[in-house]
Amino acid sequence: MTRFRFTENARWYGLGLALAAALVSLAILQYRSNRQLRDVLQTQMRANVQGSLMNVRFGLEQELSPICNTLLPSANPQKLDLEFYAREFSQWRDNAVHPALIANVFVYTHANAPELLRLEAAGKFKSEDWPARFVPLREELDKFSATDSPFLPWMIEENIPALALPTRDAPTPRIRSFLIVQLNTDELTQHILPELANRYLGSNGHLDYQVALITANAQRNVVYSSDASFGSDRHAPDAQLNVFGPPMADHGGPAPAGMFPSAARPAEKSTPRDEPGPNRFDAPEPQRREPGPLRLQTIRYSRDDRGWTLIARHRKGSVEAAVASIYHRNLAVSFGVLVVLSATIVLVVVTSQRARRLAHLKMDFVASVSHELRTPLTGIVMAAQNVADGLVDNKERAIRYGAAILGQAQQLSELIEQILLFSATEKGRHQYYFQWVDISEIIDSVLKRSASLIRSSAVRVEQSIEPDLPAIWGDYQALTQCLQNLLVNSIKYGGQDEWLGIRASRPARGNEIVITVEDHGIGIAPDEIKKIFEPFYRSPAVTSAQIHGSGLGLSIVQSMVAAMGGRLTVESDLGKGSRFSVHLPADKGPTPGEKASVSLEAAANR
Ligand code: ADP
Repeated sequence: MTRFRFTENARWYGLGLALAAALVSLAILQYRSNRQLRDVLQTQMRANVQGSLMNVRFGLEQELSPICNTLLPSANPQKLDLEFYAREFSQWRDNAVHPALIANVFVYTHANAPELLRLEAAGKFKSEDWPARFVPLREELDKFSATDSPFLPWMIEENIPALALPTRDAPTPRIRSFLIVQLNTDELTQHILPELANRYLGSNGHLDYQVALITANAQRNVVYSSDASFGSDRHAPDAQLNVFGPPMADHGGPAPAGMFPSAARPAEKSTPRDEPGPNRFDAPEPQRREPGPLRLQTIRYSRDDRGWTLIARHRKGSVEAAVASIYHRNLAVSFGVLVVLSATIVLVVVTSQRARRLAHLKMDFVASVSHELRTPLTGIVMAAQNVADGLVDNKERAIRYGAAILGQAQQLSELIEQILLFSATEKGRHQYYFQWVDISEIIDSVLKRSASLIRSSAVRVEQSIEPDLPAIWGDYQALTQCLQNLLVNSIKYGGQDEWLGIRASRPARGNEIVITVEDHGIGIAPDEIKKIFEPFYRSPAVTSAQIHGSGLGLSIVQSMVAAMGGRLTVESDLGKGSRFSVHLPADKGPTPGEKASVSLEAAANR
């Protein structure tokens, strides 16, 4: 049996260890795959936000390309055609989604003396003085006017902002005039850019990223920002992109192949001011209203001038911070699941161990109850046999035999009562009848009931009841039963000293009455203290000493005391004795006015 238990236990522990190892491996795998996911997500989110900025750039190009295409004169105009510009502008305005995007249309002509003409509302061009902020642009354009360029594309000046297109009168190769389209910054920053940012960087009407359009030179200007402070601080954004020219060339990254025509790309590397010359733009002249990407040559006034840059940063501070918060949440959830799984496994193991122990205890109980039943039954059978055999031939012997049979029968009946009581308390079916109970009255009753046992075991009983103890609200029978169980145990396990103490007091701390039953007997080993309250448990020491019992008494006492709102405690020293205490709440129960009726009710219930 012992060998069987050993191998069974070893199997259980082996299984537990294997499960623990599997859980640890799972935790490590989970951790690793979470880290991999984090890295992938980080790269993906960075690529996505860069792609979204690229879409914003395309969106902006789509706003500008109809202007450039519409206002592009025929391949070789014979002379400056102002009416053409007026007509085409009016047509563009009628069809444009954002007609307010163009603030003014100018023509800077060198046909006779240099002159700036502005298109007025009536559709006529009128000579006008140069606005102050156009002066750097004029100086830049003057350099071009001295050159013989076969082709120059549309240019953009981002400080005004304005689009400029150099034109020639055939057959001269010289540039004779410039078309200048001044853009409306308010329309751009209050309508077009917010719409594009929401379209490409938002979800459900909410921007996941802060977006700004800045001029990325020494004095950094914020042209547009989705949030009040974003763009003016110098914290690194998650993604950035040139709005015109190569998307990332200024920031170290190559421009995506095939996206920008070769005519625009080499020109981006230097500025017209740095390197003006007739042969820089040598691509074939584009067809009018040509579909496809917009070719805009950026005008830079210095090497530091990087023009417009779109920047974006995640609302959580950065893509890393956003991913880290998702990563930590995922990690917490996965480890939480593993913890719950481990707890469940521990619970299953503990429960099954407990069930196995209970099954063993029940087997022990069956054996010990059979033994307990057999002893009095043998006594009864033997006494009855003697009577039947006619050995009881006088009155005195008959009385002795009768008393012996009665004693054994009572022992049997008590055992059966205890089993039935245990079954009732376990199922919660035991009926309690509450009433006000006087402590000294109940102790007297317990001592009277156990008088013959006390006498036969020659135990000295020391009794001490604190005067003026209040009555307690409890079940008289149940309380008597509890104290009697404790008292019988003190006699059974009371050892050589043959002494027991029974005390009732109301400690200064805690509003309760404590009834203590104490002995100087065999005591209980510390590792057994918890087990003795389990049903069917009997200490191996008492079983081997052949002290009778069922292992149910303390379990019954504990259930009953708990049902009366109290608790059962024990202090014990192995070999020195034990002290069991019933703690019951004082001053708990109906008010004095209710007292009489409840007592009557309790009496009627009996
Ligand atoms: P039983 O006395 O029928 O065995 P109990 O439930 O009353 O069942 O007690 C359970 C076990 O607790 C006992 O078998 C014994 O080992 C231990 N025990 C109970 N009371 C005492 C005591 N006063 N002194 C020593 N051991 C005790």
